[in-house]
Amino acid sequence: MRAFARRAIALAAGALACTAVAAARADEAPATDGVQAADGRFETVVIDAGHGGEDHGAEGPGGLLEKNVVLEVAQRLAERLRAHGLRTVLTRDRDVAVALAERTRIANEAGGELFVSIHANAAPSRVARGIETYFLSLDASDDASSRVAARENEAFGSGVSAAGPGAGAVEAILGDLATTEHLTDSDEFARLARARLAEVDSVPPRGVKQAPFVVLMGVRMPAALLEIGFITNPKEARRLGEAERQDELAGAIAGAVLEFARRYDARRGVGTSASAQPPLPAEKQQAAPAEGGGS
Ligand SMILES: [Zn+2]
Repeated sequence: MRAFARRAIALAAGALACTAVAAARADEAPATDGVQAADGRFETVVIDAGHGGEDHGAEGPGGLLEKNVVLEVAQRLAERLRAHGLRTVLTRDRDVAVALAERTRIANEAGGELFVSIHANAAPSRVARGIETYFLSLDASDDASSRVAARENEAFGSGVSAAGPGAGAVEAILGDLATTEHLTDSDEFARLARARLAEVDSVPPRGVKQAPFVVLMGVRMPAALLEIGFITNPKEARRLGEAERQDELAGAIAGAVLEFARRYDARRGVGTSASAQPPLPAEKQQAAPAEGGGS
């Protein structure tokens, strides 16, 4: 576990270096990139389809590839959220490799209020099945979570370990990251996603877990990673390859995002920008904008 944690930290060095670059650029050009909605409403969701290009991710029976399944679900999710008035930014919208640093940059420049990374699970046992939701922690909640993070981090291994600063400094920064304001929100979204996904799965989903996923580390917004099923389970793989199932999963995730958005806006006393959500019942509006929102 310790060795693994050190490795995760080394991998994260690249993400942090990238974050620093993005911040410096934002200072130089404080124009439109990286700003959130002016009134503080929940507006932008960054959707991260795992893998892509030469990185196929996990492979299922019959040659079903994780990279293709998660892109389908990501695009369907984006479509649904846009239909509800939210802005979506995808870290990839086609079958192309996107480096870790690039995913982080896209997310932070988009100024998103939520980062959702979509993956499919793999296991040596063909009977392993079910949906898992994760948010970031340096310490995995159990050994199985450690293994999932190690597998998902693998793809970023070669590109990010080279140029990072000393591991000591990185560890200190990551220690801060893991306890920031976003942790509570990330946990909340992960729980909402778990609950919604449970409604479309026949087995009870595993609990919300924590693990050191490097793709979540440099992202300056609430973030969660969803494993939408085991591509190594022949039965689940067959379903994951079907448009109907992809749509069902996207719908469940969208439901969680919309609920998260509603709560996010309610906490800030602003009307929600997710159009299909009912207005909040008689909440006191602090500094309410003129339009929307109901008394
Ligand atoms: Zn993956």
